[in-house]
Amino acid sequence: MTALTDRRIIGIRSGDRVVVPPLEWDPDTGEELAHDFVDVGPAGTVESWSWVASPTEQHPLDHPFAFALVRLDGADTAILHAVDAGSIDAMSTGMRVAPRWRAARTGHITDLEAFVPGEEPVVPSDDGGAVDEPVTMMDYNASITYTLPVTPNAKRAEQANEEGRFLGLKCPVCGRTYTGGRGYCPVDSVALGPEHEVDLPQNGTITNYTIITPVQYPGQTETEPFARVHVWLDDTDVVLGYQPLLDTPNDDVRIGMRVSAVWASDAELKDLASNAEGRLLGWMPTGEPDVTDPDLVNRIQ
Ligand SMILES: [Zn+2]
Repeated sequence: MTALTDRRIIGIRSGDRVVVPPLEWDPDTGEELAHDFVDVGPAGTVESWSWVASPTEQHPLDHPFAFALVRLDGADTAILHAVDAGSIDAMSTGMRVAPRWRAARTGHITDLEAFVPGEEPVVPSDDGGAVDEPVTMMDYNASITYTLPVTPNAKRAEQANEEGRFLGLKCPVCGRTYTGGRGYCPVDSVALGPEHEVDLPQNGTITNYTIITPVQYPGQTETEPFARVHVWLDDTDVVLGYQPLLDTPNDDVRIGMRVSAVWASDAELKDLASNAEGRLLGWMPTGEPDVTDPDLVNRIQ
């Protein structure tokens, strides 16, 4: 990706072949490849193509173009990219193409705007040059839509959260208590409903924790390391995982710490991030003496 910002396309040697784009592993054997990179192109040959007569906004160009497999000079494999040929009549298998580069390049395959017919790369007059630092991150857009049925138990659990309560469901057979609106006991295969609901305690003990160093992916709002704790609610089997711990320096977080749930007020609720999990803000140390059971660390669910 760094080479692309320098208007170079590189492949990787795999035995006596040159694979483009460079893979981490031999595509036939799965063997890890040494980082033996080689420049290819800049021109290449169209091996196969398909005309896109009516591009949508997801397509790389806003006018008709071809998707093509282009084998760059010096490469043994073809790269899939757009060819901006102007018209379907200008396209043919075996035609020669060269890259048209974007002026501002970031280390993404779209730095290569498209291939165009001919032998000579097209470089914009306002070319921005290569990046100063090697490219280590790559942005790309992805979208996933989930459709999940909301069960009656899940609705009641959410309603309880709204009211600052933890809804539990106690299995009539084994006596285990579950939370989060689960609809059955996984041990006994017994359906759990309103008749099995119990209010859970608001106090608990930290059984385990993780200090998370945030990775700066798009949308990440955390910049400093922060703690997530597992809280075992008093007198139950319920352990709530990966909970926020409030007002506690990371160095003070420890197994056995006593904590109490903190819920958002109506005023605070308005300011909560849209991805917050309901009204629960997190957990606050109570100041009680630590619990010293050596088995606590094993209770993470
Ligand atoms: Zn059960």
